[in-house]
Amino acid sequence: MRQEATRAKGLCILGSTGSIGVSTLDVAARYPDRYRIIALTGNRRTEDLYRQCLRHRPRYAVVAAPEAAGDLSRRLDSAGLDTRVLVGAEALAEVATLPEVDYVMAAIVGAAGLLPTLAAARAGKRILLANKEALVVSGPIFMDAVRESGAELLPIDSEHNAIFQCMPAGYRAGADPLAVRKILLTASGGPFLDTPLEALPQMTPEQAVAHPKWDMGKKISVDSATMMNKGLEVIEASLLFALPPKRIQVVIHPQSVIHSMVDYADGSVLAELGNPDMRIPIAYGLAWPQRIESGVEPLDLYEVARLDFRTPDWDRFPCLRLAFEAARSGGTAPALLNAANEVAVAAFLERRIPFTGIAAIIERTLETIPVSTVQDLDGVLAADAEARRIATTLIGDHPL
Ligand code: NAD
Ligand code: MG
Repeated sequence: MRQEATRAKGLCILGSTGSIGVSTLDVAARYPDRYRIIALTGNRRTEDLYRQCLRHRPRYAVVAAPEAAGDLSRRLDSAGLDTRVLVGAEALAEVATLPEVDYVMAAIVGAAGLLPTLAAARAGKRILLANKEALVVSGPIFMDAVRESGAELLPIDSEHNAIFQCMPAGYRAGADPLAVRKILLTASGGPFLDTPLEALPQMTPEQAVAHPKWDMGKKISVDSATMMNKGLEVIEASLLFALPPKRIQVVIHPQSVIHSMVDYADGSVLAELGNPDMRIPIAYGLAWPQRIESGVEPLDLYEVARLDFRTPDWDRFPCLRLAFEAARSGGTAPALLNAANEVAVAAFLERRIPFTGIAAIIERTLETIPVSTVQDLDGVLAADAEARRIATTLIGDHPL
């Protein structure tokens, strides 16, 4: 009995080679008695995955391509490790639902993370949800899976983690947060907050990924530059905290010190503050309901000196408007929005469309495909595929 209470929690990190994955390993490795790394997964960065395996000695490693799997397996074998190397999308769901896995960090980028994250939810795991696209795409299906299995859903996105921390004691994601008037979702405004509007079409991928406050993967960095990231977060917040979009307000806060706020009926506004470092929400998710040290420097308010707030400029950030519209429409609209955005961002990173083409492609895709109600996972996946097809055609037909 006593031993059970102190057993180290088995951790599976989906997307361990990414920005969130690396930060998760950094926090977890500080507490080898509390967290045991069971599975690590990577897509293309197999050299990084190899080094992570040497250091953390997981039981399983998952890669995307069979050739990479063979190579990784041989190298781990000659290093004396008995890590089993698995391959492909189904293996992601397999490691996320292993009986020895207690916690799943969902840190794959994009809708590619949906199936393993949903599998973990159905298996009743504690899910540390960084992969916001998985929730945006599947919406009620995901939240129902969490409710039905009794899974613990801990938001890792810094804003949602802040909101979760500001909710009443004992609050669980998905419940109606009593006496909450609205959520104030803070946004840094990204690298183009003050760029002249006429210069936006010329902005390069290098400029777009150079975020002023957060060090993140490329896709979310571009999403921050267009503010689609905040738009996806509005949809994410609406699902996690069971609130309609009209009770979610976006506030530009360039210092990124307040990670978000909850406005209560009595006039109290609760905020969570800290340095912009994802190890804060990650440590919170790992240790909840306790707290552990994360390795993040203490916040120095004298150095911060001031906190600014601005209203978002809707002309500058059309993606934010498109996301609010999708949130209000519901049904398959968020899945369509997300898929078109993934395709457009990839095209921008490959220099096939200009920065301002991202919003244009998404808007045209949404005009082309009618929104339907979400019946089941197949319906959602079909909407995702259709939006990818239309967005890809639009990019090919009309080089912008
Ligand atoms: P990243 O690009 O740095 O890492 C992505 C990870 O996913 C990598 O391990 C990669 O190998 C893996 N991956 C990519 N495509 C895959 C595929 N098709 N199949 C399997 N694995 C795949 O991204 P990131 O910045 O760590 O972001 C991860 C997720 O967390 C995103 O959904 C992002 O929106 C969210 N998030 C990130 C931050 C941040 O600070 N980086 C903050 C909040 C939320
Ligand atoms: Mg965020």
